[in-house]
Amino acid sequence: MIASILPTYSRAPLTFVSGDGSWLTEADGRRFLDLGAGIAVNALGHAHPALVAALTTQAHALWHVSNLYNIPAQQKLADALVEKTFADTVFFTNSGTEACELAVKMARKYWYDKGQSDRTEIITFTGSFHGRSSAGIAAAGSEKMTKGFGPLLPGFTHLEFGDHAALQAAATDKIAAIMVEPVQGEGGIRPLPDVCLKGLRDLCDEHGILLILDEVQCGMGRTGKLFAHEWAGITPDIMMVAKGIGGGFPLGAVLATENAASGMTAGTHGSTYGGNPLACAVGAQVMEIVSDDAFLAEVNRKAGLLRQKLEGLVAAYPEVFEAVRGSGLMIGLKCKASNADVVAAGYAEGVLTVPAADNVIRLLPALNIDDADIGAAVDRLAAAASAVKEANA
Ligand SMILES: *Cc1c(COP(=O)(O)O)cnc(C)c1O
Repeated sequence: MIASILPTYSRAPLTFVSGDGSWLTEADGRRFLDLGAGIAVNALGHAHPALVAALTTQAHALWHVSNLYNIPAQQKLADALVEKTFADTVFFTNSGTEACELAVKMARKYWYDKGQSDRTEIITFTGSFHGRSSAGIAAAGSEKMTKGFGPLLPGFTHLEFGDHAALQAAATDKIAAIMVEPVQGEGGIRPLPDVCLKGLRDLCDEHGILLILDEVQCGMGRTGKLFAHEWAGITPDIMMVAKGIGGGFPLGAVLATENAASGMTAGTHGSTYGGNPLACAVGAQVMEIVSDDAFLAEVNRKAGLLRQKLEGLVAAYPEVFEAVRGSGLMIGLKCKASNADVVAAGYAEGVLTVPAADNVIRLLPALNIDDADIGAAVDRLAAAASAVKEANA
């Protein structure tokens, strides 16, 4: 008999009843250090007092009005995003995959309005992840995500991640947009080198192609800049954001330049919940905290500390780990043992990590994780590695 929850996830036998900072607690009081943060969602940890206050204050005032009316919290968050980024305009969604849908629509409408209605093709890369909606799975294109779900949304060219020659050949005046994650998340924490991101920008400029960055996972301070592309000194035309922007409340966004968004006039897109007052009240508070330079400097310092300890961990357990990679507090441990075994051993030691492709475990801690918790987390990972080593001996 099918489970009452559609069985699309194989869940770990863990049930958390409360959270505080970087810690999660089960009903029996067992505590876990959370290095997954809801897959890069709980950017400020669990039950951050300022976020709880923002949510409860809004909840007492007004939960929902439609986008037929002005929503002050939405305006506040949009203004903050425009002030702190390349963007001139923002549309709010409830998730990353909805941001992908709009990014694709926006790029195609742009060329349609320019009189090039056949300029619809979007280049994407192997190992990418853009969500589970029809545009998202077609964009990623992997068999794992698309098999059985055809016919797929047409208009995506999938290139090998890192194949510069193929990219040069494919990027013609027929291409509408290139969509890429500055740091691949689900694909195994694979950063696009700054020089490649710069090269991509140049290539787009050369052919008038729109550059769409998917910063759903790597954005909102995760890499130590507000958005990951800032490290390369370039800007996109369109950017997808979600996960960390809501700090745990469902929220996403598409940011765009005035030029790229020029086709999206009244009536061309919409969302019942997107930009809801509760979501935006929390989002505005997250933005205020995370976009502060002093906060981002701390993210970089903590990232350095964690990275240094992880290099030591990898050196101490060469049977289990191969390498550390990533950017800021978006870190991948490439495993030699099975990544699933390492994640499971972590559960036994009270530390939560997230598996990714390419036999990697992801560490995506709260951006405000304590130094002491960083130390405790690596100690617990060491205990987990020791258990895996022993089991494989
Ligand atoms: C998680 C993720 C998405 C999809 O976001 P949802 O909120 O799950 O729809 C899209 N792109 C990237 C890079 C992601 O990590």
